[in-house]
Amino acid sequence: MDAPEFSCGLLRHDREAHVNEQSCTHIEDVVTVRLPHQRACQECVKVASTWVHLRTCQSCGMTHCCDSSPSKHASQHARARAHPVVASAEPRERWLYCYPDDAIAPY
Ligand SMILES: [Zn+2]
Ligand SMILES: [Zn+2]
Ligand SMILES: [Zn+2]
Repeated sequence: MDAPEFSCGLLRHDREAHVNEQSCTHIEDVVTVRLPHQRACQECVKVASTWVHLRTCQSCGMTHCCDSSPSKHASQHARARAHPVVASAEPRERWLYCYPDDAIAPY
C-alpha cells in the first residue's frame, strides 16, 4: 500500500512502526479536532497556486498546504501566528502535528 502522505517532508516516519511517535502539551491541549471547512489551501487559492497535501490549523481552523507544497503555507502560518498544531486535512488521515516540538500523535 502506497502512503503518499509520508513523502511529505513533515512526516518522516512510517505510521505502522510507531517510530518516534510522541505527543506534546500543545497536542494534548487539542480537545476537539478541527476539520477543514473546505478542501483547499486558503492562501494558494488567492494566488492561483497548487498544493500537495492540506493541513488544518487547530488554533484558528484555517486550512493550508503542507511542506511538500511549493508555498508551504501551513508551516508559514504556524510560525507567523504562533499556532503550533495542525491536523491532516487529508481523507482517512487522523493525526495531529506540532511544528515547534516536531511531534505527531494519532487521534
Ligand atoms: Zn507542541
Ligand atoms: Zn498554500
Ligand atoms: Zn491558525
